[in-house]
Amino acid sequence: MSDDCIFCKIARKEIPSEVVYEDDEMIAFKDLNPQADVHILFIPKKHIASMNDISGEDARVMGNILLKIKEIAGQNGVSEGGYRVVINCNKDAGQEVFHIHVHLLGGRKFAWPPG
Ligand code: 5GP
Ligand code: ZN
Repeated sequence: MSDDCIFCKIARKEIPSEVVYEDDEMIAFKDLNPQADVHILFIPKKHIASMNDISGEDARVMGNILLKIKEIAGQNGVSEGGYRVVINCNKDAGQEVFHIHVHLLGGRKFAWPPG
């Protein structure tokens, strides 16, 4: 946990969010500024700043996040149409919040290559 991290504060319920799923190791909540009909962020409760900071001990929670994304995508009706799963790392990718988070985006068609 990091005292001044906005996503740690969301995990601790010090900042309100629309929680979609929660267990001991992760929490999923709706993005404040959604870029698609379905835009949900999945974070480990443990503070990890970015992809550059994950280690072997984080493999389980990061894998469990992917499994949960599959499930929540289904619950939101976007499995068949498709969806995008994104982790932005550092400035070239446009990472704004330095607590690792996985975006689930769905409900519209996305361009490739990404902008
Ligand atoms: P990044 O660019 O770091 O990958 O994405 C950060 C995401 O967090 C953005 O999509 C932004 O809208 C979202 N976000 C930033 N602050 C908050 C917040 O306080 N609450 C919620 N629910 N989402 C946030
Ligand atoms: Zn944090």
